[in-house]
Amino acid sequence: MARIVMKFGGTSVGDCDRIKNVARRVKAEVDRGNEVAVVVSAMSGVTNQLVDYCKQIAPLHDAREYDVVVSTGEQVTIGLLAMALQELGVPARSWTGWQIPIETDDAHGKARIEGIAVEGLERAMKDGQVAVVAGFQGIGPENRITTLGRGGSDTSAVALAAALKADRCDIYTDVDGVYTTDPRIVAKARKLDKITYEEMLELASLGAKVLQTRSVEMAMKYRVRVQVLSSFVDAPGTLVCDEDEIVEKELVSGIAYSRDEAKITLVKVDDRPGVAAAIFGPLTDANINVDMIVQNVSEDGTHTDLTFTVAKSDLDRAVKVLSEKTDLKYDRLVPDSTVVKISVIGMGMRSHAGVAQKMFKTLADKSINILLISTSEIKVSVLIADEYAELALRALHSAYGLDTK
Ligand code: ADP
Ligand code: ASP
Ligand code: MG
Repeated sequence: MARIVMKFGGTSVGDCDRIKNVARRVKAEVDRGNEVAVVVSAMSGVTNQLVDYCKQIAPLHDAREYDVVVSTGEQVTIGLLAMALQELGVPARSWTGWQIPIETDDAHGKARIEGIAVEGLERAMKDGQVAVVAGFQGIGPENRITTLGRGGSDTSAVALAAALKADRCDIYTDVDGVYTTDPRIVAKARKLDKITYEEMLELASLGAKVLQTRSVEMAMKYRVRVQVLSSFVDAPGTLVCDEDEIVEKELVSGIAYSRDEAKITLVKVDDRPGVAAAIFGPLTDANINVDMIVQNVSEDGTHTDLTFTVAKSDLDRAVKVLSEKTDLKYDRLVPDSTVVKISVIGMGMRSHAGVAQKMFKTLADKSINILLISTSEIKVSVLIADEYAELALRALHSAYGLDTK
């Protein structure tokens, strides 16, 4: 007998027929003699609708009330799935985040899980009852509902699997695994049988939304065996695992893209010690993360152009913070949100040169201009104009030999 956490995303519970389909999948695991906890998302589109309601009522809303609203989608699906299981003769009950409880910090809208008290769940599961758990939500220190950031049900599932010491955490979604790049954009994307925690972490944090970044961090920390697979077709998925479990290692294992980027250029800033601190200090104070940075010294040596990126959702605030800084001298501030970040990821980069060069050459051959570059041990990222995103993804995918044959 194994203990399994199964997670189903929004499309997988998108209507009542799909919820019945999920119930059949859960029943199949129960019939194999396994103990099962299921984590579900809201029905597809529901969370977007709830977020939109909040924006309509108050653009700068109280984050605590936002969480009260956007967490409700999951409450509907846990009730419906518990009923669907009962209809199939499988004992089941629903659990909201606060009922378990899943304890988080108080960062409303992007809370972190701090602990899960699993005693109640374990007792119910040992009695043969399937635990149907609401993803995406928890309870904060002030006894108020919190949510874990968009896509957060993945993190609920992995955290629950760690707390329950589950043998597996199966993430069911609308694609049948993790691909070399988003299969909805590059038709020749190839499904990976296995991917390392490190590569999956980079892919997720650089834009591949198939798993929420924090869920991968948590899986890596607690060594949870995570599998990504389809809720619609019966096919083996992708296992996220340790490097030594992978025999055939690729130089580049995946390419990610993120449209959630915006670029700011400060033209002709004084080139003197302390300028970078004067620019980035106020942004940090305003909780705005800066990602890529490049500084060009001008010909006269007294001025510099400074370009950097922030999340698209932070652009307006970043511009406001910098414009209000009267002691910062520059000619112009140029914001640009028509950019995309493309990243090539692979453990093989640690020992092989030339990966970045191939990226630059491939983009040059397509006459795509690179605006910014950043690298780490296992990835190279470039910022380009967003109109070239698909062209760049396809060209790079072929150039690194990732296309399906
Ligand atoms: P769910 O609602 O099940 O959580 P998501 O929409 O959050 O599903 O994530 C699945 C989607 O992630 C896929 O439909 C796919 O378009 C996208 N995706 C992006 N990059 C990848 C990748 N490398 N491999 C697989 N899917 C990817
Ligand atoms: N329903 C939430 C969202 O749409 C959480 C999730 O689906 O993982 O972001
Ligand atoms: Mg998701």
